[in-house]
Amino acid sequence: MTQVFNFSAGPAVLPKEVLQQAASEMLDWNGSGMSVMEMSHRGPEFISIYKQAEADLRELLAVPPNYKILFMQGGGLGQNAIIPMNLVGRVQGRANAPAVIDFVHTGSWSGKSIKEAARYAQVKVAASSQAERFTRVPAPDTWKLTEGAAYLHVCTNETIDGVEYNFVPRALGDVPVVADMSSHILSRPIDVSQYGVIFAGAQKNIGPAGLTLVIVREDLLDHALAICPSAFHWKNVAEHESMFNTPPTYAIYIAGLVFAHLKRQGGVAAMEARNIEKARLLYEALDRDDFYSNRVEHSCRSRMNIPFYLRDESLNEQFLAGAKARGLLQLKGHKSVGGMRASIYNAMPIEGVQALVDYLNEFAGR
Ligand code: PMP
Repeated sequence: MTQVFNFSAGPAVLPKEVLQQAASEMLDWNGSGMSVMEMSHRGPEFISIYKQAEADLRELLAVPPNYKILFMQGGGLGQNAIIPMNLVGRVQGRANAPAVIDFVHTGSWSGKSIKEAARYAQVKVAASSQAERFTRVPAPDTWKLTEGAAYLHVCTNETIDGVEYNFVPRALGDVPVVADMSSHILSRPIDVSQYGVIFAGAQKNIGPAGLTLVIVREDLLDHALAICPSAFHWKNVAEHESMFNTPPTYAIYIAGLVFAHLKRQGGVAAMEARNIEKARLLYEALDRDDFYSNRVEHSCRSRMNIPFYLRDESLNEQFLAGAKARGLLQLKGHKSVGGMRASIYNAMPIEGVQALVDYLNEFAGR
């Protein structure tokens, strides 16, 4: 098999050891004679897989006991509707004012969240970096937050724009903070207790597409609007331990293998140390002269998703073809912003980043 490095933003690279283990267990999991794909989600084999995955994730992120971990479906965009349906009821009817949801607009993904939430409540943009083409996170002391909002929504790592929070976002009073961590969850330690809800599509740092992780503080489980589908009602999902309906069993199994793998690697603190080093190597190569550019303010640069542009954009196709010939795959930037993007999630080895850096230098004629 040829060695490649996959810089896709998601679905994305997974640890080789995880894929090898899954391959070896494909036809017969643990002597059961069944593939995990063939198991009943209510049988003892799958229940043991599920419980281990949940326990390992709880340990990795130090999730406090008053938070539920939900394994859902519908992706990040599904949660953009599921979240307002579950939380707007918190404030509806209070003070005879319409329910408000606060947002910080830092790029494409928070933008999509704003649009979707507007179907369920009044949305207010507390801060935006749109005028600066999403090259930074607005300083928290400039945020115009709403007293009594249903919640404050932030996207702590903008996958397309390459902007990452370097501080813990805070809301007013008891307003819960809801964070879309789809593209950097498990890449660094987080203090879960600072958030009301954390959600993430699995297909970047967790596992295969089809699984959506939601971590919810218990007091926020039961404020859903009447229109909220039962399968998406957090309290219902929590009470059934994510098995109100059939969960994405195989995706949960692979996610569980990833969690166990991360624990063996030293957990999220160890991942953070590696991710800092990988990002440093890559930004250093991009910043060396003006052949390439990354436009994000240095303090807000993402460690996971690194968009960059060639000074001479007429060389884009040549750059991508040369990269592909060296096994450096999926470097084309998102169609909405163009240019290039290297996603370097947990499972991207430092050798992959070094190979990209070598190619960047060679292509620039350094
Ligand atoms: N939020 C973020 C930060 C993302 O990166 C993505 C997917 N790239 C989404 C939400 C949407 O996720 P999905 O496609 O799973 O709905």
